[in-house]
Amino acid sequence: MSRFALILHGGAGARRSRDYAAEIVHMREVVEAMRPQLADGAAALDVAVEAVERLEASGLYVAGRGASPNTAGIYELDAALMDGATGRAGAVAALVGFRSPVRAARAVMDRTPHVLLAGEGAARFAEGAGLAPVGDPEAWFTRAGQGEDNHPPGVTAGALQHGTVGCCVLDRDGRLAAATSTGGVFGKLPGRVGDTPLVAAGTWADGRVAVSCTGQGEFFIRTAAAARLGFEVESGRPLGEAARGVINRIGAMGGDGGLIALDRDGNRADPFNSQGMKRAWLSADGEVSVRVFEG
Ligand code: ASP
Repeated sequence: MSRFALILHGGAGARRSRDYAAEIVHMREVVEAMRPQLADGAAALDVAVEAVERLEASGLYVAGRGASPNTAGIYELDAALMDGATGRAGAVAALVGFRSPVRAARAVMDRTPHVLLAGEGAARFAEGAGLAPVGDPEAWFTRAGQGEDNHPPGVTAGALQHGTVGCCVLDRDGRLAAATSTGGVFGKLPGRVGDTPLVAAGTWADGRVAVSCTGQGEFFIRTAAAARLGFEVESGRPLGEAARGVINRIGAMGGDGGLIALDRDGNRADPFNSQGMKRAWLSADGEVSVRVFEG
């Protein structure tokens, strides 16, 4: 029997004091929109990119349209994707001026010999690739979560309040893929790049597992979080145990966040040590579930 599965997240910056009704409805819609494509045999990478693009475009999460500016008032966005079947990857960092960083990351993978383009070079490449521009940033960006509990007044660059979106997919042919996109942490310095666009830190996929991380990116970089999970699964550790171990390691260093992961059997892991993590999944038996907090 061919089985497929998907899990997505809308960031681990969720706060108990906030109502996530709109995000819960939207995440379910995105999962349901992907189901027929997966049933028709769509490739895991195509589905992961489309799901993340829908999350970016919603303006509900701190990624794509929902991003916030850095301390210089500029919206610098990061994204990455990885195709477990081929080991190929693409990413953009500190990209300014384009609506869908994950589409730019896909173009880097498809049209260049590189994995990661950053800053001005990334923007020039995105323009040449014909990707949709933001236009007037003040008219486009919604600053999701800003002014609410995950960005209280007075939060400084060092506080690393954050948000991100991501998706992991297992397709009907057993291929795995992951994609992640972010506005980064609130009040970040110009030029700051987090874990999201760094393959092995915030995003990973191989033949066994797909991983998308969310949280204080500096800690995910310092632990090579996403690839660590991949290698632990490769060495035979059960997915759930290995995923929890990665988040515990980050917690022990003083960081917070979470991750979503799928393995080639359709097993899911979604540990976090923050108050909540917006997430939704389509399990291999066809059930759709949406959660923000534990349980
Ligand atoms: N990991 C992202 C970053 O540090 C933020 C997040 O996931 O919320 O840029």
